[in-house]
Amino acid sequence: MGTDRGFYRDTWAEINLDHIDYNVKEALKLLPASEQLFAVVKANAYGHGDVPVAEAAVRAGAHGLTVAFLDEALSLTKSKMKVPILVLGASRPADAALAAEHNISLTVYQLEWLQEAEKHLSSDQVLKVHIKCDTGMGRLGVKTVEGLQGMVSFIHQSPRFTFEGIFTHFATADELDTTYFDQQLACFNAMVESLEEKPPYIHCANSATTLRCEKAYFNTVRLGISMYGLSPSKEMKTVLPFSLKQAFSLHTKIVHIKKIQKGEKVSYGATYEAQEEEWIATLPIGYADGWIRKLQGQHMLVEGERVPIVGRICMDQCMIRLSSEKPLGTIVTLIGKQGNEEISMDEIADQLETINYEVPCVITARVPRVYRQQGKVVQVINPLLG
Ligand SMILES: *Cc1c(COP(=O)(O)O)cnc(C)c1O
Repeated sequence: MGTDRGFYRDTWAEINLDHIDYNVKEALKLLPASEQLFAVVKANAYGHGDVPVAEAAVRAGAHGLTVAFLDEALSLTKSKMKVPILVLGASRPADAALAAEHNISLTVYQLEWLQEAEKHLSSDQVLKVHIKCDTGMGRLGVKTVEGLQGMVSFIHQSPRFTFEGIFTHFATADELDTTYFDQQLACFNAMVESLEEKPPYIHCANSATTLRCEKAYFNTVRLGISMYGLSPSKEMKTVLPFSLKQAFSLHTKIVHIKKIQKGEKVSYGATYEAQEEEWIATLPIGYADGWIRKLQGQHMLVEGERVPIVGRICMDQCMIRLSSEKPLGTIVTLIGKQGNEEISMDEIADQLETINYEVPCVITARVPRVYRQQGKVVQVINPLLG
């Protein structure tokens, strides 16, 4: 095995590109025909793998891509895609020239940044910028109409910049109570209204907003979590306009199995003790893969049946208790479906007392990503082997 699959340990994450395709197309159906969708592929596409996800999203109709940092934007240029790429987070003024050279758009929110970046751009370069407005998120952005006007004037008088977009980000779009959301939207509307000339891209909708708030579409949306088939929050599950299809699943295989006797112990600290004769299987996945110690006790799926992790999770391995003997090489699903059973990203998020966003992001680069399209494996990415 191994050789043709690009990895030599039987632990892998599988990314269903058909589900990415479906989620993007369903989101596009909600939008007016003239509306543009940017696929959010920051953080290595929320742990799913930036280039394959970006390519699938663009094939499905995404107009452009967004990331958090310039390094991530440069990583996307490995692909042959010719689509707009926007960096949503902060970049250094000194890197303006690099961004311009690669035709990458940057986010700006301070006049001083523009003044400094101008010095770093050469006379044949033009950097495309989106102005970020802080309407209540309290993270990045210009907060006042005066501040916004100052930046816009500077951009218009400088030959080094193009005013390509204006945007904001919501703090509570995934909550059913829209009071704070409505305040932010009103603030953004006022900032957009104050512009004499509108830039080509005006955007504020993340997944939650795209899925349920038409009046906040402007002309562009930024779709992140729901492209991966996950609900932006638990409370939003009751108002989703289509059923999302989770793209990420995580699997391993039994590498060792043994019957232990009542009183025998398992793993570090010898904290787990068999209560009777038990079948214990060892799996080659541990906390260094992002399957952290807090997941002790969590279930996994073996031949469609739920079985518990027993004893402490080690750096590279963990143990499960089976209901009966199983062959070596039996597939064990940590996240995903087997038969009629499913362990969803949300279940793991609950166990970790976090949100679904965090779960695929923290599955580390040691776990190879296998891409499946129309039932076939189309690509394997294993950063360890380049
Ligand atoms: C991450 C991010 C998004 C995507 O949000 P989702 O909830 O994943 O859709 C959109 N805009 C900004 C500014 C972001 O940082």
